[in-house]
Order: sequence, then C-alpha cells, then structure tokens
Amino acid sequence: KIDVKTSRKSAAKSVPVKIPSTSSEIPAHVPYLLVGGGTAGFSAFRAIKSLDAKAKVLILSEEGYLPYMRPPLSKEVWYDPDSEKKDELTFKQWNGSEKSLFYEPEDFYISPKELDENPNGGVAVARGWRVERIDPFKRIAYLEDGHEIKYEKCLLATGAKPKSLNIFSKAPEAIQKHITTFRGIPDYVELNEIVKETDSIAIIGGGFLGSELACALSRRASLENPKLKVYQIFKEPGNMHKVLPEYLSLWTTNKVAKEGVHIIAGSEVQDVKLEGNEVSLMLNDGKKVSVNKVIVAVGVEPNTYLAEKSGLEVDPDCGGFLVNAELEARSHLYAAGDCSCFYDIKFGRRRVEHHDHAVISGRLAGENMVGAGKPYLHQSMFWSDLGPDIGFEAIGIVDSSLPTVAVFAKASEKDSPKAIVAESNDNIRSNLEANVSTTSSSPSPVNTQKTSAENTGTDDYGKGIIFYLRDELVVGIVLWNVFRRMTVARQVLKDDRKYDDLNEVAKLFHIFDE
Ligand code: FAD
Ligand code: NAD
Ligand code: NAD
Repeated sequence: KIDVKTSRKSAAKSVPVKIPSTSSEIPAHVPYLLVGGGTAGFSAFRAIKSLDAKAKVLILSEEGYLPYMRPPLSKEVWYDPDSEKKDELTFKQWNGSEKSLFYEPEDFYISPKELDENPNGGVAVARGWRVERIDPFKRIAYLEDGHEIKYEKCLLATGAKPKSLNIFSKAPEAIQKHITTFRGIPDYVELNEIVKETDSIAIIGGGFLGSELACALSRRASLENPKLKVYQIFKEPGNMHKVLPEYLSLWTTNKVAKEGVHIIAGSEVQDVKLEGNEVSLMLNDGKKVSVNKVIVAVGVEPNTYLAEKSGLEVDPDCGGFLVNAELEARSHLYAAGDCSCFYDIKFGRRRVEHHDHAVISGRLAGENMVGAGKPYLHQSMFWSDLGPDIGFEAIGIVDSSLPTVAVFAKASEKDSPKAIVAESNDNIRSNLEANVSTTSSSPSPVNTQKTSAENTGTDDYGKGIIFYLRDELVVGIVLWNVFRRMTVARQVLKDDRKYDDLNEVAKLFHIFDE
C-alpha cells in the first residue's frame, strides 16, 4: 500500500524517488522491457501476461510511482473534501464508492532484483528511472547512468508532457513560482494543498484538461474554500471547441459558468506581471486578471526525445514515434499510447491522446510482442465529464472543423455520468461497452436536428448523438450524455455507408426510448 506520507514526500516535483536506488539492482537482461509505466505500459504488461503466463516483464518508469490512471485527476479526486479521505491517492467514483488511482497495489509487483530468478515470472517496476537511449539493432536500452538492459522485445510507452507558453516559460523565476502545468500525481498533490488556501486560480486552455479541471476546482472551492475564484481563459469562443460543434461548445460554456467558473473566452494572455503575491495576466482585450496560481493546460507533446539518439523516426505532422499498423517502430521495438503515431488502416496515420487508446494500443503492442502479429483494427473511444452531471463519450475522428449533424432528445437524471457510474460501479467508461442491439424498436419521432452551421444558445441539449462527416461518411460520433451505446457507434463507423437520413441512424441509439 502506498502511504500518503511517502507519496507527499515523493511528490516533490523535481525529485522522483528512485526505487531501486541503484541500477545494479535492475536486471541486465529481460525478455520484455516496457519503457514508461503509464496506462499503455501497464496494459501491455497485462496482454503479455495473458499470452505468456510466466513472462518476465520489466517496466522502467521515470515517474516515482507505480502505474496509475490519470482520468480521475481532473475529475473525481476534487469532488469530495480532502478531510474526509483516508488516503489522498484514492478517490470516490461519481457513485460514491472508493477506488485507488493505482492499477495494482505494491505487493502485486516483484522487485526488479528478483525478476530474473522468479520461475513464475511477473512484473517489476523500476521507478524514477529514465531510459536515455535505445540501440534497436543491439536491442539494448541505456539508463541515465549508463546502465545497459538487453531486451528481447521492447515497448516505448513514454506518453506525453504538458506544453507551456513562451510567455510563461520565459518569465522570471519569481513569476514562474506561480505557474504550473498539470499531468500527474505530484501536480495533483501540490494543487490539492493550494486550493485549500488560495484566493484565485486561472486555468489557461479550453481543451479537455482545462475544462474538466475548471469545473472540478470550482466544485471543490464550494466544498472547502468558498473564497476561491476559478478563472478559465482560452482563445476559442467556447469550451472544447476543437471537438464540439460551435453551438454545443457555447452551450457547454454556459454550463461550466453555472458550475461557478469565471470564463474568459476568446482571450489571449499577452503579458504577465508580478504584483505583490499575485501574478497579473494582461489579456489582449485590455482586461487584467490577477491570481495566485496559473495552471497552463494548452496541450501536450509526445515524449520522443530519445528518438534522435536511438535512430527512430518521429512523425513530422502528428509528433510521436512512427509505427506501422502492428505498432512496430523497428524489429522487436514497438510504441503505444500518447507517444505513438500509428497507422490506422481505417482512418490513416493518427496519434491519439486518450486513456482507452493507451489501453487498446498497449494491449495490441503487448500481444504483438508475444508474436500475435495483429494490426490495429479496434477503434478506441474516449470520454470526458464536466462534473457528475454532464459527460460525453466519443469514437473516431471528432474534429469540430468537420461538418456535423446532431440529433438531441430531452435528458432525465438517468442521463448523466453519475447515473452510469452508479449503475456500473466503474469510473473508467471504456470498460462499459455493453452489448446493445443495433436494431431499433419502433422509433419515436425525432426532436431536433442541428447542423454545425446553427448556433442556438438557448436550446437544451440534454442528450444527443453528434455525427462527424468526411466525404459524406460518418467518421466520428459523440454520444452526448448518452452512455453504454458505444457498441452501436462502433458499428455505425464500421458500416462505412452514406446515410440519407442520420435521424434514422440516431434512432439506433435509443435516445427517445426512455
Ligand atoms: P502516460 O500516462 O503519460 O505514461 C507515460 C509514462 O512514461 C510516464 O510515467 C512517464 O514518466 C514515463 N516515461 C516517459 N519517458 C520515459 C523514459 N525515457 N524512461 C522511462 N519512463 C519514461 N483520457 C481519456 O480518455 N479520458 C479522460 O477522462 C482523461 N482524463 C485525463 C485527465 C488528466 C489529468 C490527464 C493528464 C490525462 C487524461 N486523459 C484522459 C488522457 C490519458 O490519461 C492519456 O492519454 C494516457 O495517460 C496516456 O497513457 P500513456 O501510457 O501513453 O502515457
Ligand atoms: P507561443 O507562446 O509562441 O504562442 C503561440 C500562439 O498562442 C500565439 O498565437 C499566441 O498569441 C497564442 N497565445 C499565447 N498565449 C496565449 C494564452 N495565454 N491564451 C491564448 N492564446 C495564447 O507558444 P507556441 O509556440 O505555440 O508553443 C507553446 C510552448 O510549447 C512553447 O514553450 C514551445 O516551446 C512548446 N512547443 C514545443 C514543440 C516541440 O518541441 N515539438 C511544439 C510546439 C510547442
Ligand atoms: P487539449 O489539446 O485538449 O487542449 C489544449 C487547449 O490549449 C486548447 O484550448 C487550445 O486551443 C489551447 N492551446 C493550444 N495551443 C495554445 C497556444 N499556443 N496558446 C494558447 N492556447 C493554446 O489539451 P489539454 O486540455 O491541455 O489536455 C492535456 C492532455 O490530457 C491532452 O492529451 C488531453 O487529451 C488529455 N486529457 C484528456 C481528457 C479526456 O479525454 N477527457 C481529460 C483531460 C486531459
């Protein structure tokens, strides 16, 4: 069990604790080496283990933690007061049941120095250790201190790191103390202390992280620190504007504002100054916002710095290690998760930064490391919750610059992330693909159909299906407050048909039945 005191100590951002403390305790030869102990790495381990029961797997992770999931860090962890928690690194799912951030407890893993000897194999994690370079020809990974690990199969699952903006990264040290990015447990532990006392936080960015965190911190403020003001500043007109059609993005922004977030949309930070104990953000429209803390959530860049030294190719457009449909970068060397730019046979070259993709691509890489030789065929999904009441799930190419057609229906209390977690007791919604029939029972009349051109701030977009079209084919689907219908969405994408009337297709999702 990871105790809170240890985790607080190791949370000191600049010093991840190294376990083991010396590389001499890390094996010099392993059958399976996983570089990166995030979701993709852990998923690869599970796949390897299921096909090769006595496999010996070594995970090397730069983070000072055992593999854990990131999604709750911008959602559930903030929704119950800290004082009520037994352990900071557990959280209450939307239905109130407790869960750990960690995939498995400490005693699930064996120590790296025992890996070689153990006849039943197992998985060991060397924490706080970073791979500097790979020699794909000799099949050797080099640690930061020069220690060499010879592997038979290796996976790169190095994930991504947050970007910043020049205006902040080039600011003087005194200003930078007020600026942070947000990616992992140490960021959460630090911010969790800050929200208890501080008066004001500004989140820069209107994407997934900025929007989820703004809602979450605002809700947390109402529970524990009512004086805390949460601002969200972004240049787009509405939240998640790159994914949601304009009218829905604007509608969502209203909802985020109702959560208590002070939204400043359509704005850019042009200058930053230190004024007493606050930083003042000068916006392009002449406004000034003064806050104690700034969280920069302007996207991530894949961790590919070892590519050049290792002779590996990085995709010039998407970033990420370039891999084929079998997720191979070179012979015996694979890449999965946020860090990989893979060939999707259906939609072409892509890099996807979501949890379920990390699970699915990690699993596929793991299977292929054992010799399955399978291509990427199964589309991953993703979900986002803006608190317990609004959420969506998506699959395929969901890019708001594509034409969209949407069908909405009135929602009830059952149509919320909270209700679906109460029913399933699982916060990881990719786990919930239930078998839902794709044949519709006598459909009710369609209520609303919107295209991306329309903009109606007053409509109540309680729940609905949004289709994203390319060359008239459905290439992506958002299930807006509609849950457990991903199987249907997957089937619609697979069918690859041109539909005359997407209202009819929407009926397959049974949104009018309840
Ligand atoms: P990561 O999780 O980034 O793991 C990579 C690991 O590799 C890290 O531990 C890193 O330290 C390590 N590493 C990097 N380089 C090296 C090296 N050279 N040597 C050793 N180790 C190295 N997605 C969703 O679909 N739904 C959500 O609701 C959702 N919520 C999110 C909330 C937050 C706060 C964040 C940050 C992300 C969220 N995501 C969500 C995205 C999702 O978490 C990521 O897509 C996923 O974590 C990617 O997994 P990964 O294993 O590829 O990379
Ligand atoms: P930048 O600061 O030059 O900003 C670029 C654009 O964003 C400009 O249009 C600017 O007006 C706008 N902008 C700046 N601050 C804003 C704000 N607070 N709100 C809204 N809009 C704002 O940054 P960049 O060149 O886009 O890069 C961002 C950071 O990411 C930099 O630190 C850069 O080094 C890094 N980056 C690295 C890579 C890479 O190494 N592959 C790729 C991209 C970005
Ligand atoms: P994002 O890509 O979703 O959003 C980036 C935001 O930053 C956008 O609003 C964008 O306009 C803005 N931006 C980009 N460049 C900028 C610039 N130069 N200046 C000003 N603004 C700029 O990324 P994120 O919200 O930072 O999330 C971080 C990572 O975590 C992503 O990989 C994301 O997919 C993942 N994440 C996913 C979920 C989810 O799937 N539910 C939740 C949280 C985080």
